[in-house]
Amino acid sequence: MKHVLFLVAFALVGLLALPGSAGYSPTGSHDTHVVLPGESLGSIALSHGVSEDQIALANGLVGDKVVYIGNQLRLSGPGFTATASGPVHYRVPSADTLVHIASHQGVSAHELAHLNGVAETAEFEGGDVIHLPGQAWVCPVDHARYFNDWGFPRSGGRFHTGTDLFAPRGTPVRAPVAGLVTQVTGSAGGYQFELLGDDGNTYLGSHMDGFAASGRVTAGTVIGYVGDSGNAVGSEPHLHFQIHPDGGIPVNPYPSLLGNEC
Ligand SMILES: [Zn+2]
Repeated sequence: MKHVLFLVAFALVGLLALPGSAGYSPTGSHDTHVVLPGESLGSIALSHGVSEDQIALANGLVGDKVVYIGNQLRLSGPGFTATASGPVHYRVPSADTLVHIASHQGVSAHELAHLNGVAETAEFEGGDVIHLPGQAWVCPVDHARYFNDWGFPRSGGRFHTGTDLFAPRGTPVRAPVAGLVTQVTGSAGGYQFELLGDDGNTYLGSHMDGFAASGRVTAGTVIGYVGDSGNAVGSEPHLHFQIHPDGGIPVNPYPSLLGNEC
């Protein structure tokens, strides 16, 4: 249902969009965006790696969510952490009531009902999958330095689809959430991890100095060490960090890093 709504919203915005390229501007602030001719909410969301819903929420856009040339939109702060840190999928083990599950999971019945679009009196069958509110992350690199470098131009017409977390070589890299870690070695990314998070997101990290734990891990488990492997050899050691909600296209990790106080 959620995906259907998203597609409908996307299609509507697509119809409203005028031809023209949103274009990523490497100059100016990455925390605000002034709407240019030809841009739509959809194109702005895409070029900044955030969702249309996040922009709409953070800027009080309601109804058909039309943006106008010259509008200044806020692209960070409250409202920009929802994509990365939740909601979590939860499979109901056996027939149960919403009220009982809520008390067990430490959330209010009201919040749980709202998140799932059902009444507080709802009952679930064993095997039903419901949403629980997201948990705070463990920061992937302790005391990392980073800024909003999403979208920065890279060679070959590519653009930067993550956030670089700078820290001394050998600083532990931690799983931000619980999940399944696979170790990958590539010529560009060097020593990389792929984490299929229990929160439904896929997390990728590149340029590590080496691997640590893999397989099933809890949040905070050390899964590697900061380095400069792959095509980052010789650069300042950092973890290139990406988030792929539901395993799809990457979104900007910066708001979620800020939101989780990394
Ligand atoms: Zn990077």
